[in-house]
Amino acid sequence: MISNWSPKNPSAMTAAPEAAYRLKDRLVWVAGHRGMVGSALVGRLAAEGAEVLTVGRDSIDLRRQTEVEEWMAQARPEAVFVAAATVGGILANVSRPADFLYDNLAIEANIINSAWQTGVQKLLFLGSSCIYPRLASQPMAEDALLTGPLEPTNEWYAIAKIAGIKLCQAYRRQHGADFISAMPTNLYGPGDNFDLQSSHVVPALIRKADEAKRGGAKTMNVWGSGKPRREFLYVDDAADALVFLMQHYSGEDHVNVGTGEDVTIAELAQTVMAVVGFEGELVFDTSKPDGAPRKLMDVGRLNALGWQAGTSLQGGLARAYDWYRANIAEVA
Ligand code: GDP
Repeated sequence: MISNWSPKNPSAMTAAPEAAYRLKDRLVWVAGHRGMVGSALVGRLAAEGAEVLTVGRDSIDLRRQTEVEEWMAQARPEAVFVAAATVGGILANVSRPADFLYDNLAIEANIINSAWQTGVQKLLFLGSSCIYPRLASQPMAEDALLTGPLEPTNEWYAIAKIAGIKLCQAYRRQHGADFISAMPTNLYGPGDNFDLQSSHVVPALIRKADEAKRGGAKTMNVWGSGKPRREFLYVDDAADALVFLMQHYSGEDHVNVGTGEDVTIAELAQTVMAVVGFEGELVFDTSKPDGAPRKLMDVGRLNALGWQAGTSLQGGLARAYDWYRANIAEVA
C-alpha cells in the first residue's frame, strides 16, 4: 500500500485496516538485533508471527557494501527494520564524530540500496529526535526538519540520520520502493548501555543511583545543569510503535515516535532515585554539557494513525532497573 501522503491529502496517511502490511509468516530482517531497540523488535515481531532473521557482527560488517549485498542476495528478507547504528550519549557523540557520521552513513546506505536491489517489499528506517534543529519550536513536528541549525553535540549522528530519511524518500520517488522512516525519541529499557562514558542519561542515572545506594553515598552526580528537558519512551513501547508503522503506514514523510510528554533531567533523576530507593542529594556537574535545551516530539501524526504509548516513566524505569540488577555482572 503506497498512500503518497502529502499535506494536501492528509486522509491518505491512514491505511484502511484491510490494506495493512501483514507481518505474520513474513521473513523479516532486524538489522541491529543486539541493540536495545533491535532486541525488543525481535521479541515483538516473533509475537506477531513473523519469521525473524538476524545476522551477527562476526558474520558481516554492515559498513562494508559488498558484505551487505552478498548477504542480502542470499538471505532474501521480505521486510527490513534498520535498527543498526553506531549510537551513544552526549560524551560519545562529542568525542567520536567520525565514527558517528561514517558508520551510520555507510550502514544505512548499504542496507537501503541492497534492499531495493533485492526487491524488499517494505523497509523501516530508524532515526532519532536529534535530527531536528537545536531551537526547533516545541513540541517538534515532522516538518521542523531542516528548518535551522542542529545541536552541535550530536550533529554528526543527526546528519547521518537525516541522510537516511532522504534515502528512503529518494528510493520511494525514483524506484517506487515502500521504504518508510520513524524517528523515536530517547529510548530506555532492558538491554540498554550502562557504560557511564558512552551511555545515555537514563541508564547512567540508574547505575549511579544504584551504586550510590549500595555504597552508602550521600550524593549522586548528574551531568549539566539538570534543566534540559527530555522525553523518554520505554523500548517495548517503541518496538510496538515500529511494528504498527510497518503494518499501517506507507508514506514519504517520516513519523515521530514518542510519548508527547517530557521532564527535566533533575525530575528524571528524582524519579530514578525513587525507583532505585536512593535517598541522598543530587549534585550537578556543570562542567559537563547540557546539550539541547529541550527535545519534545509532536506525536500527533502517530496518534492520528492509531498508536499511543502505554508505559509510564515510573513503570518503565522500574522494569529497566530490574533488568539492570538481573544483568549487572555483564553490563556494569
Ligand atoms: P542527549 O539527549 O543527546 O543530550 O543525550 P544524553 O542522554 O546523553 O543526555 C541527556 C541530558 O542528560 C544531557 O543534558 C546530559 O548532560 C544529562 N545528563 C545528566 N547526567 C548524565 C549522565 O550521567 N550521563 C549522560 N549521558 N547524560 C547525563
